[in-house]
Formats: sequence, C-alpha cells, structure tokens
Amino acid sequence: MNQTTINETCLLNGGVGLHSGIKSNLCFHPAPADHGIVFLRSDKQIEIPATYRYAKPTPLCTTLEREGVIVETIEHLLSVCNGMGIDNLLVELETIEIPIFDGSGYNFYKKLSQAGIRQLAQPKKVIRILEPITFQQGEIMIYVTPATAPSFTFSIDFDHPQIGQQEFSFNLTESNYSEQIVRAKTFCLEKDIPKMKELGLVKGGREDNAIILDKRGQFKNLDIMTWLNEPNLHKILDQVGDFYLADNYRIIGNVFSHKSGHSSHLAFIRYLMDECQDKYEVVELT
Ligand SMILES: [Zn+2]
Repeated sequence: MNQTTINETCLLNGGVGLHSGIKSNLCFHPAPADHGIVFLRSDKQIEIPATYRYAKPTPLCTTLEREGVIVETIEHLLSVCNGMGIDNLLVELETIEIPIFDGSGYNFYKKLSQAGIRQLAQPKKVIRILEPITFQQGEIMIYVTPATAPSFTFSIDFDHPQIGQQEFSFNLTESNYSEQIVRAKTFCLEKDIPKMKELGLVKGGREDNAIILDKRGQFKNLDIMTWLNEPNLHKILDQVGDFYLADNYRIIGNVFSHKSGHSSHLAFIRYLMDECQDKYEVVELT
C-alpha cells in the first residue's frame, strides 16, 4: 500500500474558528511523499508540521506552535486525514484557527473527497505496536495492545443524564470512519459555557455547531444530532485526530481509553514516541 495525497488544490471557504470566532478560509494543496500533514500560516510565512513535536497542551482543543506562531483546533481536520488515509497534505490558512463548520469533520471530508485521493510511488508507513503500553493520568487511562488492524474503544463518564457512562468500539477503516465517525459533532455542557466565555473561548460556538447538554438534563438542540451516543463518537473522532500527531503514522493496535481528552492524548503520544521506542516500530506497508 502506498502513501497518498489529494489530486488537486482546493479551497474550503466560509468557516469560523470555534474559539477565536475569526473567519478563516482554507486552501488544501497536494504534497509529495514523506511531506506529512503540514500547516502553512501564509500571513506569517511559517510552516508547522502536524506532529507532537510542535503540539502544545490546551484544554479544549489541539494546538500547534512554531516560532511563536500558532494554529489551533486542528484535531477534526487531522482526524479526517487519518480517517481517509491521507499521508501528505499542505493546509494553507491566514489566521490562527481551523474553522469549526458544523462541529464535526464532515466539511473537511466532503471537500477532500471531492478533490480526490491519489497514490504516490512510495510505500505507506505505519506504527506497529509490539508490546502493551499503559498510560495513566489520575482517572484517565489509555492502554494500547498489539493487533493486526487499528481499533479504538472509548469509554466516557459525564455527570449528565444524557451521557453518564458509555463505551463504543470502532475499527478504523476508511469506510467505517466515513459511516460512523466523521459526522459526529462536538458537544459541551451548558453549565460550562459561562466559564469558557470568561476565558475568552468559544466565541464562534453556536447552537448549530455543538451539541449542548442543558441544565435540565436534556439535549438542548437534539435537531442537529445524528446519533444519541454522538458525544462518545465525537471523542473517538478527536482521538483519531490527536493520535495522528504521531508523525502522521496510523497506529496499528487496539487503543482502549477512559475519560481521555486532547491534553492526555498528546501526553500519551509524546510518551509513546519518545519513551517507548522498544515497544513499537515504524514499518512500511507492502
Ligand atoms: Zn472535537
């Protein structure tokens, strides 16, 4: 199996950053083999590869920073790249944030699918897990075991009657991703919104781009939802994106996670890549 990129340059206009509220247009360009997923802040002429080496922990999104220039909320786009098996892509933008669109990965998926995916001459590389790896941060747990294909089992536990404890298992293939994950929208608890606004966040948050779990114990905007367990599915969408920070290699293994989020995903990938070198190998798919 070979590396891929998109067929042609394409524009995705009309989005707004979830946290900054800033309008942003994206331009996707094809890229050569071993280029990886790279963001170009064209206003600063800085390129930032989408790897854990440039990622920094932020509570509500995943952010890249290089030489003081940042690109935030990259996780949904990165998830789509992992989900579609795109190895190489240059993403050009002029502001600090990737737009949220409808809160899922669907707009990115639709645009990149329209551009078309093409194979390059060089073999695709993946991370193969050789031994179990355990990571714990308080009550957060991430556990990865060797397997012949990538899978994610994610359990959440939110203090809200519509969520509570849930678990979902997902085998990562291009078709499963497009059918089960890519449309899962982000979500938040209504009681947390004033706190987030005080911190200057969610300026672009609206009732049509985030599922809101209200104070009465209901979904406030059930009409925008596709599945009742959509918050759990969105956690997997986020994790598929954050885990692509492993130098844009898909991880072949069974991933079990409990209550993890962007910061712990990044901490896990850093731990895996820098401290567990004897427990995985980067291999070419033949
Ligand atoms: Zn998300």
